[in-house]
Amino acid sequence: MQSTAWLSLGANIGDPQAQLAEAILALDMHPRVSVTARSSVIITKPWGKTDQPDFANMAIAVSTDLKPLELLDVCLGVELAMGRIRKEVWGPRLIDIDIIAYERVEIVSDRLTLPHKFAHDRSFVLDPLREIAPDVADWIVTLKR
Ligand code: AMP
Repeated sequence: MQSTAWLSLGANIGDPQAQLAEAILALDMHPRVSVTARSSVIITKPWGKTDQPDFANMAIAVSTDLKPLELLDVCLGVELAMGRIRKEVWGPRLIDIDIIAYERVEIVSDRLTLPHKFAHDRSFVLDPLREIAPDVADWIVTLKR
């Protein structure tokens, strides 16, 4: 059975827009993942750790028969393949891929929180998401009230 998930992509070193495009291609090339929608790219100030380059952020929708944790592993695999630098939390990154939501599933576990723990108060996640799935953005905001 196919499910829809929404992913947030971000990059702020190297060539951010090229890395977003590369990540989308890598996800779409996975035999069990199809990219079905993409937002525009927005440029945002860094969040958390502010002395680093601006971020390019976007959201995409994927159709997949993978379960949430399997999809997380695919996302982490693409991050690793693209050589993400994982030295500090909220530090510079070649590519960051988060699962914003997977259908209307709610999970809190060691490895995965859905919808994403911080999605509701990050406009760089919600604004691109709103372009491609306004109902999902509204649901996330409503959940956290
Ligand atoms: P970060 O790269 O800083 O976004 O953190 C990645 C780690 O957060 C992953 O290894 C996941 O185990 C964990 N995580 C928890 N919830 C999520 C989610 N919704 N999407 C992506 N990673 C998540």
